[in-house]
Amino acid sequence: MSLIADNLATVKERMAEAARKSGREPDAVRLVAVSKTVPAERIEVGGIEGCVLGENKVQEARDKIEALGTESYHWHFIGRLQRNKVKYIPGLFELIHSVDNSELAEDIHRYSLKHDVVTPVLIQVNISGESSKSGVLAPNLEELLDMLVSLTGISVRGLMTIPPFDPDPEKSRKHFAALRNLRDRMQKVNVENISMDELSMGMSNDFEVAIEEGATWVRVGSAIFGEREAH
Ligand SMILES: *Cc1c(COP(=O)(O)O)cnc(C)c1O
Repeated sequence: MSLIADNLATVKERMAEAARKSGREPDAVRLVAVSKTVPAERIEVGGIEGCVLGENKVQEARDKIEALGTESYHWHFIGRLQRNKVKYIPGLFELIHSVDNSELAEDIHRYSLKHDVVTPVLIQVNISGESSKSGVLAPNLEELLDMLVSLTGISVRGLMTIPPFDPDPEKSRKHFAALRNLRDRMQKVNVENISMDELSMGMSNDFEVAIEEGATWVRVGSAIFGEREAH
């Protein structure tokens, strides 16, 4: 087994254990293996076919998807999405984790209709309220969702967050709990193209805590592929 496949198996075991520990079914939590900066050749020899891979740059993702295809791998977009790159998005990614404003959502809607697809998205929330972070602020979420109701080219599936980094994963718990509570309050916005089933939260350093607090997707990079060089 390759080191990458070995790491992947370990992460999956830890995910299942965290789910069990909190009384959840292990298959209620899925993994995005964050492959940003990892070359296609390294992914290919890793022996991890069937994985969901997470990318945060559109051009890098397009190159890798061309090299590796969409049969052996599933692709999610997890990064800041520039509006001039949205035209490449429809049909390329199974889920966009990082929509945080109505202009971006409208662009994805428009290009999706043009390609005759519906693009599943999550709304990225700046749950800690730090000024440097991407994401809609929690008090503005309901207003944003109201604006997305009419956008038939997107389907909102839930929320995503990146809490402030802290080496102690327990420090992230309150942020994960806050996102889950926000999701629970938004369940009432239950319309045709908006559901709140998914919670994308937790990374290499804190995914077990995120699972204990209700994550349905964790996004794990370095624990699988090793430390990244600066990007
Ligand atoms: C890079 C990245 C991750 C993975 O981070 P690791 O600490 O390497 O697990 C998760 N989510 C997002 C949005 C990222 O950009």
